[in-house]
Amino acid sequence: MKPARMRIGIIGAGVSGMTAAWLLQHDHEVTLIEKAPRLGGHVETVPVVVEGRTVHAELGPRFFFDTAYPYFLALLRLLAVSLRWSDARVSFTEVARGQTIVLPPRSPRHVASLLRSPRLVRHVLSLRRLIDEQSEISGRRDFSLTFRRHLEAGRYPASFGPEFVYPFLAACWGAPLDRLPEFPVYSLLKGMTSGKRPGFYEVEGGMSRYVRAFGDELTGVDIRLGVGVRCVDHDGAFLVEDDRGERHRFDRLIVATSAREAADLLRGVPTVADMQATVASFRHFETEIVIHGDPSFMPADRRDWSHTNVFLDGEAAWMSDWPGRREGVSVIRTWLPTGRTPPRPLYGRRRFHHLMMSPENAVLQRRIATLQGTSGLWVTGMYAVDVDNHESALLSALVPAQALAPASQNLARLLGAVPHDAAHGLDVLPVPLSPLAREGPDVLPIPSPPLRA
Ligand SMILES: Cc1cc2nc3c(=O)[nH]c(=O)nc-3n(C[C@H](O)[C@H](O)[C@H](O)COP(=O)(O)OP(=O)(O)OC[C@H]3O[C@@H](n4cnc5c(N)ncnc54)[C@H](O)[C@@H]3O)c2cc1C
Repeated sequence: MKPARMRIGIIGAGVSGMTAAWLLQHDHEVTLIEKAPRLGGHVETVPVVVEGRTVHAELGPRFFFDTAYPYFLALLRLLAVSLRWSDARVSFTEVARGQTIVLPPRSPRHVASLLRSPRLVRHVLSLRRLIDEQSEISGRRDFSLTFRRHLEAGRYPASFGPEFVYPFLAACWGAPLDRLPEFPVYSLLKGMTSGKRPGFYEVEGGMSRYVRAFGDELTGVDIRLGVGVRCVDHDGAFLVEDDRGERHRFDRLIVATSAREAADLLRGVPTVADMQATVASFRHFETEIVIHGDPSFMPADRRDWSHTNVFLDGEAAWMSDWPGRREGVSVIRTWLPTGRTPPRPLYGRRRFHHLMMSPENAVLQRRIATLQGTSGLWVTGMYAVDVDNHESALLSALVPAQALAPASQNLARLLGAVPHDAAHGLDVLPVPLSPLAREGPDVLPIPSPPLRA
């Protein structure tokens, strides 16, 4: 029997809130409330015109690849969004030693600069070995094993962590270097591109293009942009007051914000106190992204400029990537190191509070799973299932969807668009999808959009 139509409120229009709205819109009256004046949450593309060339630079999420993103890639196929593939090319600069290596080497000069340092050759070989462990570690889904303990147990060279891979990965996440060794090795390696095909997809024209296409599909949703939710209460139904003073009444509520914002919104609501305490236990770090044209944030020799450029500078590790690489122009994205003056010219800037990876997160996720739906409340977002990426955020929205609309036609479309050999991606969900949601009504084959190498 079809569940009765309900009024469902969703707070937050990042990928998890948008996905929840998309999955529920045909079965219920859905209102999506977002404090920013646009959809997409962390996704924000900044178009920069330099020397007559337009570069679509990302302030937020940018990287995704086959192994860890089967459902996000399926969504992009449904939306007919074009992708392009970039090979992973990395430079690593030790500022104090004035030494840069490039991986994989692209010229005899790069080979020579790597071979000059047996220490760096050892690190690169250790990195290769670590990448070879990726699929086994991802398959184990063991959040309790920290990166430091994994390197110790595997008898990696003692200097590999502190001198190379800790700064390398801290820079790639914009994360505090002193905390990185305690991150779960599972979260870190799942977030790395596959060793078999190193590289990643990007959305042609920028991630905001996919958000626009996704937004166009929300035809059955009452979307309120530029409206922040001020407070939530519960008297059997949810009473939501926004910052314009308007009050909304919902039968069910999905809070699709960050964990920190969810904790603030749910504070003081006695019926959901356990969920509030759980989401309040996640930790975050502050980080800032700048998009700019200052080459001093890149390797000194332009021939070393790579897609990803990591710098170890004293106690700090930071990264610049190069969105303008294809166009051959100096449009650079940097995770701004603390205390460093923002570069010029500055094209875009945004501060984030980013989820801190920790073995404790898996415990909190299990608790969230047992509390989902209590008093009619669900939380979704990249922190709620698995690791902190776009795929997790998307998958987290399947949890309320299967409870509230198990026969959702968009859920069936999404599941139908995922290649069968990738179906294991759903293992990260705390409860298996119901057979109804798995089979769905009429699942049509989806044409793939063009992929450009
Ligand atoms: C700098 C950065 C780079 C990243 N890069 C990648 C990447 O390359 N690949 C990847 O897979 N992941 C990346 N991530 C992870 C990224 O966070 C997730 O991919 C995903 O975008 C998170 O989606 P979400 O729906 O969980 O939350 P968000 O995108 O944070 O959406 C939450 C929304 O809730 C809204 N909101 C909050 N409070 C209220 C309120 N009171 N009222 C109304 N609305 C509210 C916010 O405005 C926001 O729009 C990156 C994250 C950061 C910070």
